[in-house]
Amino acid sequence: MTIIHIKHGKPEAERSEDDQKVKTIVETILKDIETRGDEAVRELSEKFDRYTPQSFKLSAGEIEALMNQVSKRDMEDIKFAQTQVRNFAQAQRDSMLDIEVETLPGVILGHKNVPVQSVGCYIPGGKFPMVASAHMSVATASVAKVPRIIAATPAFKGAPNPAVIAAMHLGGAHEIYVLGGVQAIGAMAIGTETIQPVHMLVGPGNAFVAEAKRQLYGRVGIDLFAGPTETMVIADETVDAEICATDLLGQAEHGYNSPAVLLTNSKTLAEETLVEIDRILAILPTADTASKSWADYGEIIVCDTYDEMLQVANDIASEHVQVMTDRDDWFLENMHSYGALFLGPRTNVANGDKVIGTNHTLPTKKAGRYTGGLWVGKFLKTHSYQKVVTDEAAAEIGAYCSRLCILEGFVGHAEQANLRVRRYGRRYIPY
Ligand code: NAD
Repeated sequence: MTIIHIKHGKPEAERSEDDQKVKTIVETILKDIETRGDEAVRELSEKFDRYTPQSFKLSAGEIEALMNQVSKRDMEDIKFAQTQVRNFAQAQRDSMLDIEVETLPGVILGHKNVPVQSVGCYIPGGKFPMVASAHMSVATASVAKVPRIIAATPAFKGAPNPAVIAAMHLGGAHEIYVLGGVQAIGAMAIGTETIQPVHMLVGPGNAFVAEAKRQLYGRVGIDLFAGPTETMVIADETVDAEICATDLLGQAEHGYNSPAVLLTNSKTLAEETLVEIDRILAILPTADTASKSWADYGEIIVCDTYDEMLQVANDIASEHVQVMTDRDDWFLENMHSYGALFLGPRTNVANGDKVIGTNHTLPTKKAGRYTGGLWVGKFLKTHSYQKVVTDEAAAEIGAYCSRLCILEGFVGHAEQANLRVRRYGRRYIPY
């Protein structure tokens, strides 16, 4: 196997040092919210976002006034995107059947998909007002028929962003809070004097937001670990450097710590992409972020074969994987660890991020090895049930159960089963 790194990012040790710093900051903030509730939340919002309104929760009048500030064109675009997300989420919901089967005569087993009763959706908005994140979590929760959907987003440049608030409201949020970062995540999960806690947190965010969700997992459910955006472009000579560089920088602009990796079997394409990245960075308005991110977290990896590319891609398990090769379907068939795949040069990650209908809240930091992204199914709990509906079945299954309980030493369990054998089967099983 010959794999050459034409460009490296920050060494792994430095990346985990960054993670450790974030962990400590988040721990301190969550403890503060736990102890001092609303008072802490207010101070943290002042400290990190310079925002302290009378109430973080928007009233119906405030929501209406903000919606009126959104242009007709923007509103139509938001509605179009939200319709695509809802349509795909509804198709996925329809594929999740409740089942009931008779596995033995008189033994009925089933499961029901039941919505989580309350969720807190985080809509990121520190650097950019992420309108689309509202469709992904709020609208999807509403397709799942979650009875209480609350949503929080930070003030953007000192005030609620009208387009984000419009998307949250249209998505179906029952309560909207203009609150960001760990203070929003902590307040929604732990609860304060003014915010009723939720059962589950969903939505993406920066490293602080993702770490806060991770630390709160167990106390509440979380959708997945969805931190700073990552992207990988898998390309061969069927595409050019311009498209590879554009797709890498298109995601690197998210933040200073967004990994972007080109994986190719063409050394020429790799070298041309490096040059093309410099050309684009010279003119990209978001180059201050994208260039730092590319310098620290950008990588170019050249492999000899498609099999090697597949192995490296599965190992990195990137959040977004843009595949542009002469064997895209082969990658679709064989990739097992990633957030979402974008197949062929006609599609792109921005489509998925903003409008096409698949969910953009996706696993980062290799979480793609054990989970896919947010989808309607994450808002549903699959609960099983059982019914034994005949005397014969109660006696027959009871006899097996009783013997298996005794095998494990559980006499109390055995008696539960035995009582049924005696009562419904008129038989006695000696211990
Ligand atoms: P954000 O809303 O996630 O975070 C902003 C908040 O961070 C602020 O309100 C502030 O309270 C807090 N914060 C900032 N600096 C802090 C510090 N030093 N200590 C404690 N708290 C601090 O918005 P953002 O920063 O623009 O980040 C959005 C992130 O979401 C990006 O990293 C982007 O890549 C990521 N994202 C991920 C996905 C995914 O599915 N994985 C999808 C979309 C966006």
